[in-house]
Amino acid sequence: MVFVDIFLPWFFFHTLLLVFFTFSYYNINMKVTLIPERCIACGLCQTYSELFDYHDNGIVRFYDNPVELQREIAETSDVLEAIKNCPTRALLKDPS
Ligand code: SF4
Repeated sequence: MVFVDIFLPWFFFHTLLLVFFTFSYYNINMKVTLIPERCIACGLCQTYSELFDYHDNGIVRFYDNPVELQREIAETSDVLEAIKNCPTRALLKDPS
């Protein structure tokens, strides 16, 4: 009876927590915001991540969409490095 009264609820709760944290770990997203007014067209961000590309005048944009200024993506180290190393903070990361 002790098994049913104590162990089974503990086991199910524990399993539920494991499933929740596993899904949380693999679904970490972030919101990346471009601020073209701050961009000085140094070209650094693309050396870190292919997410970024440039207009003809060198101002940052997303590689596949020239008008979009914000997007939610999976958090990756290359994008984080690009954001961290932007000298004018023209790239921002917001938790989503
Ligand atoms: S690193 Fe920053 S300033 Fe340089 S091109 Fe990219 S967004 Fe513009």
